[in-house]
Amino acid sequence: MTQAHLVLRRTALVTGASRGIGRAIAQALASRGVRVAVHFHSQAQSAETVRGSLAGEGHIACQADLTDRAATGRLWQQVLAAFEHVDVLVNNAGIFLGHPPLSTGLDAWAEAWRATLAANLLGPANLSLLAAQTMAEQPELDAAGRGRIVNVSSRGAFRGEPEAPAYGASKAGLNAMSQSMAKALAPHGVFVYCLAPGFVETDMAAPVLAGPEGPGIVAQYPMGRVSTPDEVAQVAVFCALDAPPAMTGSIIDVNGASYLRT
Ligand code: NAD
Repeated sequence: MTQAHLVLRRTALVTGASRGIGRAIAQALASRGVRVAVHFHSQAQSAETVRGSLAGEGHIACQADLTDRAATGRLWQQVLAAFEHVDVLVNNAGIFLGHPPLSTGLDAWAEAWRATLAANLLGPANLSLLAAQTMAEQPELDAAGRGRIVNVSSRGAFRGEPEAPAYGASKAGLNAMSQSMAKALAPHGVFVYCLAPGFVETDMAAPVLAGPEGPGIVAQYPMGRVSTPDEVAQVAVFCALDAPPAMTGSIIDVNGASYLRT
């Protein structure tokens, strides 16, 4: 790594970027001149379409199951080899599995917890470690520091997830991890931000919004609608590129005043 890095374009790895919020974040970062690694799990064609849609050149698509530690390590090395430096990690990939407490057997309950924590908490934890160790050794970009990690959490961490307690717990864990990592990494010029969206119009939320609960959910939103992926992406880009270091450790609500925590 040399000081030449200072004049190169910012780079970012966005996980789960073949669709939904991740796609919107990848597109918004690219429109700000960032070179983006579009990570995907299984939707290679969609990821390639997203990569092709990004403004500017030099973007890549890269596959990994983030519940697989070895695959996660290979992903990080692949992105580092392609870009030489990684300035932004956006931990966006995640899953939502319903497992209502009074109608789920113990085996299905345990499996929902295992799978949810693996995807929503352990995957981001592993990538955050790799990012932290890389970024802390990179030259300072500018006053913005050496690198930034942006974690996509959920209002469910605060409001509760009665149909999917593991989801709420995984996001509460992600919040706590973000704050711990912010403390650990700030002395090294690496800053950590966390977003807590409410409902967002994506494939993940579509079944619930289209079901019998849909109108009641929309009624929680004083704007009369849930959020769009682009709105969440605007906040993610702010954290990735513009937010002051003084905001490291912040958990930022993006929920249209549907849930006001104190
Ligand atoms: P989505 O289902 O459209 O996208 C999630 C992405 O994560 C997919 O591309 C999927 O392939 C990827 N992914 C899941 N498991 C993976 C694994 N093991 N390895 C690699 N990739 C994996 O969902 P979305 O709505 O765009 O959600 C993005 C993030 O926003 C998630 O972390 C979600 O929890 C969070 N969020 C979403 C909403 C919402 O209402 N949509 C609300 C709050 C928070």
